[in-house]
Amino acid sequence: MALSRRLIVTTLTLLLLGACSSPPPPPPPPPRVLDPDAACLKELRDLRVSFEPQAPFGTPGSCSIANPVKVTGDSQTSWNHPGVMSCAMARTLEHFEQQVVQPAALKAFGKKVARLHHMGAYNCRSRRTEPVTAEAGGYSRGGRLSEHGKGQAIDVGAFELADGTMISVKKDWAGAGKKSEFLQAVARASCEHFNVVLTPNHNKLHADHLHLDIGPHKLCGM
Ligand SMILES: [Zn+2]
Repeated sequence: MALSRRLIVTTLTLLLLGACSSPPPPPPPPPRVLDPDAACLKELRDLRVSFEPQAPFGTPGSCSIANPVKVTGDSQTSWNHPGVMSCAMARTLEHFEQQVVQPAALKAFGKKVARLHHMGAYNCRSRRTEPVTAEAGGYSRGGRLSEHGKGQAIDVGAFELADGTMISVKKDWAGAGKKSEFLQAVARASCEHFNVVLTPNHNKLHADHLHLDIGPHKLCGM
């Protein structure tokens, strides 16, 4: 009897202790982080870029893109061929197109650009440097990875107007006239959107295209 009474008292005490000691507070909910990739993809859709998301590939430090997209154009332009690049690069390019390229084309020619002729976006290679042009085809051996290898760059060769008029960096950069003025104005303004802009003024490797990239360096090669 005494034993069972002690048992009851002990049990009650334990229950009371259990009730009084507050349980540990639940862990705070994880902060709501907006997935930057999803946000960028949504922005591309809102900007009416024609693109398809691609699977991430590679590892940082080597050729890789964490959030690749394959772009074929936008609401106003089609591209001569699809270009793979990071979503951030596609977004910057679209802003550049809407804010610089189309207004400049309307101002100079009274027509919009309907087709963008590019010579490559993602490309797993090292940076090109002029001194090794002859022996290594322009690619530095063991050199630093090009921004093209990270999907952060594009080489633009020409803009084609709605009426088929071609404005080519190779043919029209130098000299006087509307086409040259258009290209120079576009290149100058592109420095406000991209971190590195290389033009025919920079070196012979860029005689036929504008290299535009959003890499970590800053250079406006006008
Ligand atoms: Zn390039």
